[in-house]
Amino acid sequence: ESVSNIIAAGEVVENPASMIKEILENSLDAKSTNIRIQVKNSGRDVTISDNGVGMSKDDLLLCIERHATSKIFNKEDIFNLYTYGFRGEALASIASVSKMRITSKRESDELGTEIKALAGKVTKVSPVSVNEGTEIEIKELFYNTPARLKFLRKKSTEYGKIKETVLKESLANPNVGFSLEIDGRELLKTSGKGIQNTILELFGRNVLKNLKEFPLGFLGNLEITRSSKDYMHTYVNGRYVKSQILEKAIIDGYYTKLTKGRYPFAIIFLEIDPKEIDVNVHPSKKIVKFSESSFVYNQVFSEIEKAIGEDED
Ligand code: ADP
Ligand code: MG
Repeated sequence: ESVSNIIAAGEVVENPASMIKEILENSLDAKSTNIRIQVKNSGRDVTISDNGVGMSKDDLLLCIERHATSKIFNKEDIFNLYTYGFRGEALASIASVSKMRITSKRESDELGTEIKALAGKVTKVSPVSVNEGTEIEIKELFYNTPARLKFLRKKSTEYGKIKETVLKESLANPNVGFSLEIDGRELLKTSGKGIQNTILELFGRNVLKNLKEFPLGFLGNLEITRSSKDYMHTYVNGRYVKSQILEKAIIDGYYTKLTKGRYPFAIIFLEIDPKEIDVNVHPSKKIVKFSESSFVYNQVFSEIEKAIGEDED
């Protein structure tokens, strides 16, 4: 059975936000310390530049081919998800539904390479003088797939999802600087100077001063509860995930202290043996299942209960 066959086929690019997430994760895998995202045209035009390790000309030509991953080596590796990317289909999928231009340069190369592609077909390859790193420019996402274009939501909705995606990635990677510009306006900027500073830059001083550090991350006190669950940020092995088990463990950990309909601000970073996780549940990799879910629940619940309980004495 080939690697590509056991990877559930699915649409990687649901919308501009999920496309941006894939590209950001590639930049992170490439050890970038600074990533700039510029968005226009309801998220259909996106440019992402990083200062990561870059690609050779051959890598660059290969990276928009389906299953041209540099990250999977055998079947077992799919279940050892220490890097973000693992299916080698994101860039190929994005390229096939857009007009793409990529420039990239490695430290060891004198010149970089530029490639252009239309609906995944390479139309131009040439040497170019650029800084070390990679820049991916997508224009007119879904221009050749009108059915999928129709499914894009209104501009403000797409922009909201993009902002949330970049916020979650920047929180998970506090030593990487991110900037997000939408229609020429800077909406988010982090400088990559650690978690405390990143929290300050993303949420402001009021949140930072009402937070308590605990062994699994940060917990907000009752001054900063919200009416939405969106302020519980949960990460497993550095990747943002949505998990009902984790949400429940957090809420239960606060116990009777929460007013009904209010949710805490929490940032939880869990480290779990990748073999115990199934992140392939959904192609966007956001939903996880744990093989030992009661163990995970108990671990999170008891740490939170302990941290919250300490406030009383
Ligand atoms: P995957 O991340 O699953 O390997 P992708 O389609 O997302 O698949 O990327 C294909 C390949 O292109 C990656 O494995 C990597 O080698 C290369 N690549 C993509 N983006 C970058 C980047 N920003 N910097 C360096 N290499 C990259
Ligand atoms: Mg990838």
